[in-house]
Amino acid sequence: MLYTNRLHIILLVAVIYMCSCAVSNNPQRNQIKQLQKGIIKDDTSFVYQLPFEKNTTHLLAQGYFSKYSHKNRAALDFKMKRGTTICAAREGIVVRVKEDGNKGGWNKKYRAFGNVIVIQHTDGSRAGYWHLQFNGALVNPGDTVKQGQPIGLSGKTGYTLFPHLHFIVWRSGNNQWQQVATRFKTSKGIKYLRPMRRYSNKY
Ligand SMILES: [Zn+2]
Repeated sequence: MLYTNRLHIILLVAVIYMCSCAVSNNPQRNQIKQLQKGIIKDDTSFVYQLPFEKNTTHLLAQGYFSKYSHKNRAALDFKMKRGTTICAAREGIVVRVKEDGNKGGWNKKYRAFGNVIVIQHTDGSRAGYWHLQFNGALVNPGDTVKQGQPIGLSGKTGYTLFPHLHFIVWRSGNNQWQQVATRFKTSKGIKYLRPMRRYSNKY
């Protein structure tokens, strides 16, 4: 039994390795696909809270490493109207706030206008909340925030086609930052989110 399990794991790792080379230069891409489908079960990573208010629901327009602008990003795009309250997905310390950007659109020239809040977690990883509206930060650098605490108002600043929250977590390892796929508590249980599905904070 143990032998079969081990063989299974070796085969799985080999398949993941081969697929990730063929499909994308980011080795995480295929692993995340398997996590999303429940083929790999990971139950040790931190459970994040959806980054919006309790009892609200939002469409995930883009998932980890999806086509378009996330090809090489373990990022999530939650579609939401401008001015929607964004909440901390995990507790931590605010290390960066930019809220003076007042332009946005589907052109790289708008990239520098993207407003953002970055929160550092106790394990050293960081979460970025992007495209907030002008003056849309409700916190300041140095603030300690709790999970679920309102931190900002969403918008459409920076390089973006439509109003949404771009959420991404990264950590440092081997002297470089690495993006991390995160799982969330949802109304349907704890999940690695998948694109074009609606996720709810009702539980
Ligand atoms: Zn995005």
